[in-house]
Amino acid sequence: MANRKVTLYWFCKTPQGWRRKAIVLGSNNRIRHTHVIENGVEVSYPTGRYELCRYEGTKPVYIDAGTHPSEALALWRKESSLSVAKNEAVRAGAKVVTDEKRVEIRRAANLYIQDCEYRRALEAMGQAKLVTEEFMLVCRKTYIDEIVKEDIYRFHRALRDRGCGDRTVANKHLRLKSFLHSAGFDTKSAALWPPAPKYSKTLPEVYSPEQVTAILAAADPYMRLVIELGLKLGLRDQEMAHAEWQDIDWTHSVYRVRNKPQMAFMVKDCEERDIPISSDLLSSLRQARVRHPETKLIVGTKKDTPNRKLLRTLKRLAKAAGLNCTQCDGCKGNLGECEQWYLHKLRATYATTLLRNGVDLRTVQAYMGHADIATTATYLRPASTKEALSKVDAIDWCGGLSKLETEPATVTVN
Ligand SMILES: [Zn+2]
Repeated sequence: MANRKVTLYWFCKTPQGWRRKAIVLGSNNRIRHTHVIENGVEVSYPTGRYELCRYEGTKPVYIDAGTHPSEALALWRKESSLSVAKNEAVRAGAKVVTDEKRVEIRRAANLYIQDCEYRRALEAMGQAKLVTEEFMLVCRKTYIDEIVKEDIYRFHRALRDRGCGDRTVANKHLRLKSFLHSAGFDTKSAALWPPAPKYSKTLPEVYSPEQVTAILAAADPYMRLVIELGLKLGLRDQEMAHAEWQDIDWTHSVYRVRNKPQMAFMVKDCEERDIPISSDLLSSLRQARVRHPETKLIVGTKKDTPNRKLLRTLKRLAKAAGLNCTQCDGCKGNLGECEQWYLHKLRATYATTLLRNGVDLRTVQAYMGHADIATTATYLRPASTKEALSKVDAIDWCGGLSKLETEPATVTVN
């Protein structure tokens, strides 16, 4: 077998169509990304991918090497040294057995993250990065086919050691499962894949009407608007921070949650949605607009950028207003910031209030922007005994059921 080298190409879109062109290395031995030599002149074709070419016998085989120059270079070096080793072995008369179907964990992780990026699922991309990194730190194996059940258990243990709760471990388990499944790992096999760790599902926490009244009374106009955006529109923390005046349809009293690519903000699960604005919130918004006629953001910073400190401000407000629970770890900690006060709880209160006031599940799902109705259903909670008392009182216990239903069944025994 001839000793043929592995070559790295930039497979790119040229005016003549898609072509493989030899890459250009800079003086620092790094790839000059997108650059190729054409008729002795260096030109750039921005659209393309890297491809490795190696030979099996006399047949050229092209392998995708991604779009990142440093990764393509690393892959090229690895394949080149492998090829040298193989040629040496062949020359020495050894039989070389290779398995080209093996999938590297790191490479599969990059593809998985890239896939999220292509779908513009930015939140999923962030989680994919985190979980694959966390897993690789624990697993320390090279190929997907080397992973065994014990690696998954070790991953669970490592997360718990770092202080992750049962719910977080279960969520990361599912994210890891989705990644490994995409890489061809058999997650359906009980011998290879353990079940998700169990955790007890607790009802979403909501604020009581008394708490809502108290925090609104303590808030300045800015924080009152922040609280109202959570409580009356059910906005997520990030949606609130990126809310713009132009998202309000003043004529139809509708708030539109939408993607803001210019601010690198994408709505979770890509679910853009319309939410009705109650008349009291609409008038609060009108007043705020009069106070801030020039800004783009509804609750931005002084420089009109997304305010990243809304949560902290809410906690300080609750503390100053004497609304801390005084019992939780947060209250007892140095900062004295109560764990019971957080923005997302306003969103939970919004969903629960809508459902309790007879808005149907499908509609609440749409307003909340849930991809799955099961998520919305978690906000259905039994009424408190106090709330249900008037309904229970109104029941006619004696005349409420027909005679037929109340008569005991007669059984004849011979
Ligand atoms: Zn507390």
